[in-house]
Amino acid sequence: MLTLIVEDENDVRSYVKKTMESVCQVVEARDGKEALDMLIKIPDVDLALVDWNMPRMDGYDFVKAVRHCRMYDKIPIMMMTSKNEISSVQDALNAGVNEYIMKPFRSDMLFSKVKILGFNV
Ligand SMILES: [Mg+2]
Repeated sequence: MLTLIVEDENDVRSYVKKTMESVCQVVEARDGKEALDMLIKIPDVDLALVDWNMPRMDGYDFVKAVRHCRMYDKIPIMMMTSKNEISSVQDALNAGVNEYIMKPFRSDMLFSKVKILGFNV
């Protein structure tokens, strides 16, 4: 299993990386543009964990771009954000997000959400 982590904040990215590295392989990107470039190079990503607020390309635009590509249809995307308004959650789901986790979160919460997406972690 290979997880793509897209997060601009270094401490959050390294926390999520450390958590996921205990159960699978990880690649990381600091914004949506870097993540799209990474998907072209490494298209066999199994799961994407994506922050919402990021420079250059945010998580919302990243999700819309990914969901426009048929070849990425099977990659589940989880949005990691402190945006907790129902309308934000709904916007993310409409854009093609499969799961949503509120920041801040602990590793066991992340694993429960990853399990919901069907991964045995
Ligand atoms: Mg951010």
